[in-house]
Amino acid sequence: MQGSDLTKRAILLVDDSSINREMLESNFVSKYTVRHAENGAQGLELLRKYPDTSAVILDLDMPVMNGYQMLEAVMRDPKLCHTPVVVITANGDEDSQIRALDGGAIDVITKPFRPRIVRHRIDAIIDRRENERLEEENRLYEKLLRQSELDERTGIYNKQAFCRRTAAMLAANPNDRFVLFRWDIDRFKVLNDVFGVANGDRFLEDIGAAYRENTRIEMTYGHWMADHFVTCMKQEDFERYDIINKILSLSSERYGTYDLTTRIGIYEVEDTTLDVSLMCDRALLALQSVKNNFTNRVAWYNGSMRDALIEEQELAAEMVAALENGQFEVFYQPQYDYDNNVLHGAEALVRWRHPQKGLIAPSGFIPFFERNGFISRLDEFVWRTVCINIRKWKEMGLPVVPISVNISRIDLYNPRLCETLIGMIESNGLDSSMLRLEITESAYMYDPDQLVRTVENLRSAGFSVEMDDFGSGYSSLNTLKDVPVDMLKLDMRFIESGKDSARSGSILSSVVRMAQWIKLPMVAEGVETNEQADYLKSIGCIYLQGFYFAKPMICEDFEKLLSNQEYVPVKKEQKTVDIEGAEDFLNASTQATLLFNSFVGGAQIIEYDGEGCVECLRANDRYFEVIGCDRKCFYSRERDMLTMFFPESAKELLRVLNLAAETGEEQQCELHYLPIHDDGKELWTGVRIRYLARTDKRCIFYMASENITERKELDALRMRLSDIVRNIPAGIAIYRWGKHLHTEFISQQACDILGYSQEEYEYLLENNVPITLADSFANREEEIRRALFSGQTVDSTVPIVRKDGSWIWLRAVCSMVSHEGRTPMIYATLFDATEQHNSEEKLEALLSTAHCGIFKYQADEEGRITYISESMLKMLGYTREQFTERFDDRFPMMIWHEDRARVLESLYDRSIDNNSTKGACEYRIEKADGSLKWVYDVGQRIINVDGKEWFYVVIIDIDQRRQLENLV
Ligand code: C2E
Ligand code: CA
Ligand code: CA
Repeated sequence: MQGSDLTKRAILLVDDSSINREMLESNFVSKYTVRHAENGAQGLELLRKYPDTSAVILDLDMPVMNGYQMLEAVMRDPKLCHTPVVVITANGDEDSQIRALDGGAIDVITKPFRPRIVRHRIDAIIDRRENERLEEENRLYEKLLRQSELDERTGIYNKQAFCRRTAAMLAANPNDRFVLFRWDIDRFKVLNDVFGVANGDRFLEDIGAAYRENTRIEMTYGHWMADHFVTCMKQEDFERYDIINKILSLSSERYGTYDLTTRIGIYEVEDTTLDVSLMCDRALLALQSVKNNFTNRVAWYNGSMRDALIEEQELAAEMVAALENGQFEVFYQPQYDYDNNVLHGAEALVRWRHPQKGLIAPSGFIPFFERNGFISRLDEFVWRTVCINIRKWKEMGLPVVPISVNISRIDLYNPRLCETLIGMIESNGLDSSMLRLEITESAYMYDPDQLVRTVENLRSAGFSVEMDDFGSGYSSLNTLKDVPVDMLKLDMRFIESGKDSARSGSILSSVVRMAQWIKLPMVAEGVETNEQADYLKSIGCIYLQGFYFAKPMICEDFEKLLSNQEYVPVKKEQKTVDIEGAEDFLNASTQATLLFNSFVGGAQIIEYDGEGCVECLRANDRYFEVIGCDRKCFYSRERDMLTMFFPESAKELLRVLNLAAETGEEQQCELHYLPIHDDGKELWTGVRIRYLARTDKRCIFYMASENITERKELDALRMRLSDIVRNIPAGIAIYRWGKHLHTEFISQQACDILGYSQEEYEYLLENNVPITLADSFANREEEIRRALFSGQTVDSTVPIVRKDGSWIWLRAVCSMVSHEGRTPMIYATLFDATEQHNSEEKLEALLSTAHCGIFKYQADEEGRITYISESMLKMLGYTREQFTERFDDRFPMMIWHEDRARVLESLYDRSIDNNSTKGACEYRIEKADGSLKWVYDVGQRIINVDGKEWFYVVIIDIDQRRQLENLV
């Protein structure tokens, strides 16, 4: 009876009646492992032994341990309490039924029972339990799944999750048509270069976020790898929403006007049961078909792609024989030095002359030769053919040029590559300089270390190595600094891919500039028009290859071309524009770059095209801090930096650039930026400009910028101040007391009063020529000096001889101001006191026209103001009546209450009690409009004829407090 079949569920029958147990067992035994117990104690023992028992059928009335007791024990045991217990009771015994249910039984069966019904009920109970358990497990599993489903970088589904979700979506919508597409960003690596890897990463994050925002569309989406994204959605939705553009526009803000293009491969889901990752492969196949296509960026997966695969297999079957039978032929496409109009070299390009299919271009077989490895044999054939031909041309006496051959990525893994090439060169009696090796840039992506090692080997063997398809975007511009190649090969077809040629031109020229910086010569291929050729030449790229000059030609034709050439000896040195020191800026590991990036100030590399356009090629972070705008905002502006400045500054920059280029010396100037943000904030920068290099018309400069806005504002303030000084009907002079009295500043008015020109006056003073009458000022010099140094204001009226011989009474009110860390200066106000002498009123009248506030108040506690100038009322915005009303004409009231105690203390206590005559201080006055104005107060105590004491005070608006220091 107790068959221990592990796959069967088990039930436990606990009943003291063996008849009952047998009756039940006969019903269960086919499906369950049945265990018997005669009482509760036995039952409990068995249940503990087999805790995975699916159900217990329990009689209540038993010896030793009855059903209730066992039930209670089961329910108390955490390991057993989930086991469903069904209780058998006598018919009609409701109390015991309820008691059993209360005790945890899941159901009751009444005696006499019908065994088949019991079995069905037990089955149902067990199934339900099982389902509940499974559901719980599923929930847990889902939770775990979700945690590992999301791609960390983008926050959307990863590969596996995308496949799972997509399969589920397809299965749930069997009647809809779906497309699955895969897209990536063109030249994503270049973008990384231009904006930094961190920005590139953030861009991917932004794409993820943009996807998540488009939740209204039913679709699945995921991040496949690198910059590849996959999406599956209903075909109608795909047609209706331009989802990719939507996502791009949401996420590309960071890059401003940078030309972002995508390529899309679409697989129309025909067979929904196809493995989703296979669908993604097909979408990829479609994507790859437009990878190097510049007119078409979207491709649907179609049967012809499969056909191509079949065709490939046919060709693969023939390739070995074809090579042996000489069906492969080498064509030559000349390269010219467009500067001197001479032949520079030629590229060897292979063709398959197929007996049935005709001439097959390399694109028809190279890609799959690369996949199946046959390319290395074909390449060796091409190299050997080229070597043999060069030897033949030499023997024919033709002026030979070096020939470029293609080295496939696969060849790089051949450890004997270098030997093989040398062997071919030597066996034909050639010099290794006759072969130029073109290595495709994409090799860098697959195995940069291998590439670098191989290139180093080849170069030390004397070959010149060219990096083919440079700018195709497989690798980054950084490749340049790692791979020691001799020449770059730019492909116009990659570069001209941009929609607007101005921008692609600028990408091209920045590539060219980079190359020039590290002194790499360049050859451009795919040149089809005169404009392209001229443009390339204008930016310093002079070696050109392309249909504009000649198509690839058969060997005989190239021979003819060679024989028509004058003899051009092989130039060892390739031409580049020499840019000294500039390579440092590109090499990330050099001090110079470190310096550039962490330069204490803002720095840029700028280019001037000689025709009034200045472009920023590179800028460090500090530059953006200086101008208060980020890279994104900067690059979204016009390329011409001159548009950033006020016209005078733009003019000034051009002038200085020309000067720097002419003299080769560092130049400086100040530039006034147009407001960068809406807040209209002023920006002035002081720049230092160093000429770096010239390429044809273009010049490259290094420009360091420093924010000098504050200083400029101070200058402006100073100007305003000197306006004031000019307008005060009194002379102002500033002296420094060294051995003699030195004049730091003397206003025009002061000179006018004295009757000398400024120069004359300074000359007199410097040479200690006395202009005061002998017994006056000079005699009191020591006294005055002491008074000044002890902080007093000296008010003295002295007779002065004017230039014309006349003399005047000059009243000089002097005080010494010393700022921390600076030489003390003597500030003097000079009046011609001849006429008015004691006529104070007249002085007031004069002062009242001044551009500062003047007032006079009684030197006592009350501080009654008895005079206030128009200018001061104007400064504060009051009418005379309002002023009186507001401040009761009392000086203490005029001081803003928070400043009052401080000011009064410093003024009254010191000036009155110590009988000194001066106090200067700063405080606030409430203006008529309720705002507060900071003023600088210079007061003088004057004792009137009547013996009363007054303070004469001049106040200056110092709302721009910080500027005060440099002001007085
Ligand atoms: P590639 O090395 O970039 O060669 C330049 C390709 O551009 C050649 O195509 C050439 O015919 C074409 N071309 C030249 N001037 C112009 C032009 O002005 N406009 C346009 N639209 N195209 C121009 P081709 O000969 O079909 O070769 C295609 C590619 O096949 C080559 O690209 C190279 O990657 C590969 N290839 C050719 N021969 C060999 C070889 O012997 N070995 C290896 N490994 N690869 C080869
Ligand atoms: Ca090539
Ligand atoms: Ca190429």
